[in-house]
Parts: sequence; structure tokens; C-alpha cells
Amino acid sequence: MGKSGKKRILLKIGSNVLTKGTDHISRGKIEDIARQIANLKDEYEFVIVSSGAIAAARQFVHLEGKEVFVKQALASIGQPHLMRIFQESFRELGLLTSQCLLSYSDFEREQSKTNILNTMNVLIENDYIPIINENDTVATDEIKFGDNDKLGGLTAVLLKADLFIIATNTDGIYTKDSITNNRQETIKSIEDITDLENEIFASISKHGTGGMTTKIEAASIAQAAKIDIWIVNGLKDNFIENAINEAVDFTKIITK
Ligand code: GLU
Repeated sequence: MGKSGKKRILLKIGSNVLTKGTDHISRGKIEDIARQIANLKDEYEFVIVSSGAIAAARQFVHLEGKEVFVKQALASIGQPHLMRIFQESFRELGLLTSQCLLSYSDFEREQSKTNILNTMNVLIENDYIPIINENDTVATDEIKFGDNDKLGGLTAVLLKADLFIIATNTDGIYTKDSITNNRQETIKSIEDITDLENEIFASISKHGTGGMTTKIEAASIAQAAKIDIWIVNGLKDNFIENAINEAVDFTKIITK
């Protein structure tokens, strides 16, 4: 719960959601997110962890090489464009945004953690929505494997979020049997994460590097701090409000 008495939601949006599975960042998806946050802002305060820097750069630049440092350079080119789209779309609805670039190592030093927390709290108290990405120039963890899942989990814990929403390209986590039978049945609610590990379905994503494995790792981090985790299908319109109203299938990982 934030100082305002509103519930604090950490929303993690992967590249696969932001591009809607295409080669372009979808402005429509960012507008969909902005519209929902505007509708919910009296009750909830939002912090966003967003990927999509590399995807944004790839829209208009080609750099030779597949090495990780080429991706880091692409992220550096794409990040300001990504932020521009967020800023424009959110401002249309009267929402203010800011950018924070973090890496795992920032969560290992007490002083850095205090600095992050203080900065975020000032932003939130002044109605700014922090939009976080990995600092891809200095860190490569999420570029190599993760799609910002773990960064989302660490941030949710540090900011004492009430709810950690992971927006991905499936209706949550499907049961193993339903995958085998090709009828995709969502696991609606689960307490014990080890049960989920047995059901794991590695979702195939063209742009993002994460799969269900990193989502479960991120969920374990958040669950240990007593934060509920929802894994929802961010490709669908209105996915946050629909999940809150239980109007769609998604996976809830409930704290013990
Ligand atoms: N920080 C990277 C980006 O925003 C994440 C990489 C990924 O999503 O695969 O592009």
C-alpha cells in the first residue's frame, strides 16, 4: 500500500506484449495500458517495468552482429523512442511518466536500494508513473535471458507492491495436460510454486527472452515477500481491468 492509501501495482510488460508479436512496438497496446491506468488511478498506483528497447530500435535501424553488445547498443538507441511513445500516449490521458534504468546489482547494495526507493516514492507521491527498464549499457542479464521478469520481481519487493502483474502472451500458465492435448486450460489459482514448476510451459516468444521459467523465478521472489502475483494475457485489450473484474482467465499465485 502506498502512502496515498491506494493499492500499489507493479506491472511488468514484456517485449512480446508491446509488439503484439510483430516487428513493431504497438502504440495501440501502450494506449490500451494508459487508458486502463487512467480508469484505475483513483484506487491503484502503478509502477511499470517495461522491455521493448531493443524491439523499438529494430523498427528503424539495423546493426551488424548478433553479439550481446550489439543488442546493448540497440537498447540504447531504442530506449528513448520507447519512452517517447509511453510519454505521448500517457500524456494524452493526463498521466505523467518518468524513466528509471536499473540492474540486478543495484538490488545488492543497501545504499542503492535506499536511493531507488527514495526516488520512486517521490515520483509516485507526485503522481508520476515510473517506467523501469534494465540499464542495458551496464547489465546484460535481462537481454540474455529474462525479458525483465526478475527485474520486475525485485522491484515489486523493494517497492512493497501489493500486487505484481506479469503481462505475457498466454492466458497465464496452462496445465501440462492441456498443452499436450492442445486445449490450453489455465491454472487459475495456486499457492505452492513448486506445483507450478511441474506444470511449466515455456511460452515461445519472438522478441522477449523470458519464458515461464523466468516468470516463475520472479514469482518466487515476490511470493517470498508476501506479494500476490497475477500472470495475465497482455495481448488482449483491457487485460488489467478484466483481470481485476475476474472477466478473463489468468493465473493467480496467492501468498501463503
Ligand atoms: N531490456 C531489454 C529491452 O528492453 C529486455 C530484453 C528483452 O525483452 O528481451 O529491450
